[in-house]
Amino acid sequence: MKGFEYLKEELQNMKGEGTFRSLVPLESDQGAKVVIDGREMIQLSSNNYLGLTGHPKMKKAAIEAVEKYGAGTGSVRTIAGTFTMHEEFERKLAEFKHTEATLVLQSGFTANQAILSSILTKDDVVISDELNHASIIDGIRLTKAARKIYKHVDLESLEEALKESADYRKRLVVTDGVFSMDGNIAPLKEIVELCEKYDALIMVDDAHASGVLGSNGRGTVDHFGLNGRVHIQVGTLSKAIGVLGGYVASTQEVRDYLIHKGRPFLFSTSHPPAVTAACSAAVDVLLEEEDLIDRLWKNTEFFKQGLEKLGFDTGKSDTPITPVIVGDEAKAHQLSDKLRDYGVFAQSIAFPTVARGQARVRTIVTAQHSEELLQEALDAFEKAGKELGII
Ligand SMILES: *Cc1c(COP(=O)(O)O)cnc(C)c1O
Repeated sequence: MKGFEYLKEELQNMKGEGTFRSLVPLESDQGAKVVIDGREMIQLSSNNYLGLTGHPKMKKAAIEAVEKYGAGTGSVRTIAGTFTMHEEFERKLAEFKHTEATLVLQSGFTANQAILSSILTKDDVVISDELNHASIIDGIRLTKAARKIYKHVDLESLEEALKESADYRKRLVVTDGVFSMDGNIAPLKEIVELCEKYDALIMVDDAHASGVLGSNGRGTVDHFGLNGRVHIQVGTLSKAIGVLGGYVASTQEVRDYLIHKGRPFLFSTSHPPAVTAACSAAVDVLLEEEDLIDRLWKNTEFFKQGLEKLGFDTGKSDTPITPVIVGDEAKAHQLSDKLRDYGVFAQSIAFPTVARGQARVRTIVTAQHSEELLQEALDAFEKAGKELGII
């Protein structure tokens, strides 16, 4: 079909630069090992931290929900698409998060869009960490509020932005709880103290902390003992929780407001019964199977130390996300390709997802990996790293 020659040209350029990447379809479930191109490999690239995508209790809950309530809901939440299970789950999630209320959205991405686009006006300002997730950046693009960007996890830069913005009606400081490309945790206690000092609202996006940090995986707010001091928590049900969805955990007013003004909530259909039932079962799993989180952290320590001992640069991660920083983009892709030859699936990530010269292979271990499997992966890293002169 004629008309897209201009896109073709751009794609061609991407291929020339080596930035064009094909999708990699899995032929198995999302386990510690996956099948790609007919070959079994160790999976080190998923966000399935606790292995919940295949948890038997969650699969059973999903199947039962389909049998009883069907495959879909047939409406947006505000018209005819709210089922009792949606509201029951939101109450359960609020209790779990120690917040007054929650509202579930289709994804973490849309949760950020809903909250950021709705609660601020041109009289307000949003103050955002420079390395916040794309969904926060896009949410900010949708608000008429003024914006300020502070240097990554830099408290002085944040305080400066707070000082400069005294004249606005409301100030909202936004940060990721765990940064997805480096695996570092935001200094939330200090950020909250600054927000309290300057009477600013604080919002934390805990996508990579949900199910990972805090008691039973409640997130960074719980991890730092800050329950009741963070105005808005955004979480995802798509990563460690193993299903799909996002939520805003906050006050009853914020929930009520989003039901009226949150555009993804108003104009996009609600979660199918299988999704909500599986998410609800996941909260039970978090409460009942604390050993999953213990195993995740044990594996994290084992794997991180292994990589460091081999001499790789693993940056400043304090979570199960461990980047292997290579620097050169082509070399990072080569490392990923070699690892794949040796039976390890660990994707390389380059500009624009990370800064130029910071290309890396990003790894995430899960509770499901056995130590033997992780040792096998470390052996592959050693072999590939030596062959490429990285270590
Ligand atoms: C993954 C991620 C999201 C998006 O969550 P989904 O549920 O996958 O849409 C939002 N924020 C952060 C920080 C993330 O890492």
